[in-house]
Amino acid sequence: LFVVFEGGEGAGKSTQVTRLAEALRAQGREVVVTREPGATGVGKRIRGLVLDGTEGPESLSPRAEALLYAADRAQHVATVVRPALARGAVVISDRYVDSSLAYQGAGRTLPVDEVSWLSSWATGGLKPDLVVLLDVDPVVGLARVAERGAGIDRLENEAVEFHERVRYAFLDLAAADPKRYLVLDASQSAVEIAPTVLARVDGLRAD
Ligand code: C5P
Repeated sequence: LFVVFEGGEGAGKSTQVTRLAEALRAQGREVVVTREPGATGVGKRIRGLVLDGTEGPESLSPRAEALLYAADRAQHVATVVRPALARGAVVISDRYVDSSLAYQGAGRTLPVDEVSWLSSWATGGLKPDLVVLLDVDPVVGLARVAERGAGIDRLENEAVEFHERVRYAFLDLAAADPKRYLVLDASQSAVEIAPTVLARVDGLRAD
């Protein structure tokens, strides 16, 4: 079972990833928690490159950025996700293909069908069983990030309009394939969201 959490900055993905993993482990399941970018050794180096805030001529071009995310994902799928799924573990990933469609596609305005093709080449076509989209107004999400006081990375410096394009791209992807998505209002508290996610995942396993 492959479950992915998607959403903008400050949507609360990592909290929900942790809660779902704990709940499934309590049911005796093997759970592998992972993330993009940066789940592998190579990926950590790529993460450093894509989040480097260098501006001017040395800054990362949109196509180079898309290729780096694709490389991170290819390594992630080959060395973490597929082996775990093959031994029957539940894999929970904080971000996956939809993040590229939303950020590199809608956000950086690369053609979404091309980014989609690149991602499916990188993953060998591996799709999640469920995508949990934590939908939040970017103004609310970015305020949460600022409150957290964590370092602001390259993306968090983008204008609100960038994050709005990203938000609507995620929502469009969910609307196009409703069976594979659970869209939740991420302005709710973490305690309210977690049981809804668990119920949906339990439902999938009963199928
Ligand atoms: O989810 P996390 O905060 O670890 O992501 C790191 C940063 O990379 C975020 O600012 C996110 O928006 C960005 N990102 C991106 N394109 C992706 C995945 C993540 O721009 N495909």
